[in-house]
Amino acid sequence: MVNRHRLSEEFARLAAINSPPLHEHAIARYLVGRLENLGAEVLFDNAAEATGGEIGNLVARFAGQLKSAEPLLFSVHMDTVEPGGQVQPVLRDGVFYSAGDTVLGADDKAGVAELIEALEVLREQQIPHGPLEVVITIAEEIGLVGAKHLDYSLLKSKRGFALDTEGSGWMVLQAPGANHLQIDIEGVASHAGMTPELGLSAIHTAALAIGRMRLGRIDHETTANIGRIEGGVARNIVPQHVTVVGEARSHDADKLQEQTTHMLACFEAAAKEMSRVIEDQRVTPRVDADIRSDFPSMSVPEDAMTVQLARSAAQSLGQELKVRLGGGGSDANIFNGHGIEMIILATGMQKVHTHDEYVAVADMAGVAELLVEIIRQAGSANPDNLPAD
Ligand SMILES: [Zn+2]
Repeated sequence: MVNRHRLSEEFARLAAINSPPLHEHAIARYLVGRLENLGAEVLFDNAAEATGGEIGNLVARFAGQLKSAEPLLFSVHMDTVEPGGQVQPVLRDGVFYSAGDTVLGADDKAGVAELIEALEVLREQQIPHGPLEVVITIAEEIGLVGAKHLDYSLLKSKRGFALDTEGSGWMVLQAPGANHLQIDIEGVASHAGMTPELGLSAIHTAALAIGRMRLGRIDHETTANIGRIEGGVARNIVPQHVTVVGEARSHDADKLQEQTTHMLACFEAAAKEMSRVIEDQRVTPRVDADIRSDFPSMSVPEDAMTVQLARSAAQSLGQELKVRLGGGGSDANIFNGHGIEMIILATGMQKVHTHDEYVAVADMAGVAELLVEIIRQAGSANPDNLPAD
């Protein structure tokens, strides 16, 4: 069914096209041609304007033969993590590696190649299917930027599959949400040796706050971190300003909120504690908090249609498909946040974001087969749909 040679060549072609985040023009041009050849109507949204990138998100539509079947969405991303550079994919004993000092870019080009191969098979075998939508986002690797700026009005699908997680034989139904925190503390500068009583240390305030903060692993589904501190001017000056950057993550939206509130409360309590009278005036360090939701958590239930479809397809093929908890945010968090039920399927990619990244052709072939079977079963699950020709 799946043509491994064709799949290998597709992956090698994709990997050799440079595609750093926001510089996806070349790969997008290639993908348009490829998808149009497979019978898709292809368009780009306006994300380029909002993001300053070379091109927007790609949306491809396949009408399908089963016109009244529910549309299904497949999502992958076209950018690859930096440091990029010219990738030279090499195939050794059925496994792709990068020859040079770059990542391979199997994240997410393995997913792209698998999807293209599945579409090839559908056409070649004339497998009747419902409407399919393919979204290939830009700039996933720099904070899900493409998915965040995607024009969701272009999509009809309510359900879908993202091809973008490591390993093989896995699906991810749950992933945490995250909040980013930037706290700016403003104290009063003064000479540290001559007039320390006229100063109010921003660094001391930050230290008090962080010392009392619950950080690290908070519980089985919540984590928190202070990742960067920047401030002060010189050894002998009471520091006026410090910037503290951190994050909180949780699979549970309430816990995410609670942890974020706790972190902010620690800074406010520390400021109050540092408050003092300087030259007959009460002075309190000012705390400015910039808290933003980086991505919402996602949680697709076990009995959801996408999960059942994936399980049933894997079973028909004799493939193992187990559930794993996601650790970070991906485009699927954003799609789920927009009301599209989307689970993530592993693509076979390994050691992503390193120069040792690799992917086996056999694993990619297995995923392409799984996709074909998912699409075939989704079509035949609608008994009143008969191919119209
Ligand atoms: Zn990825």
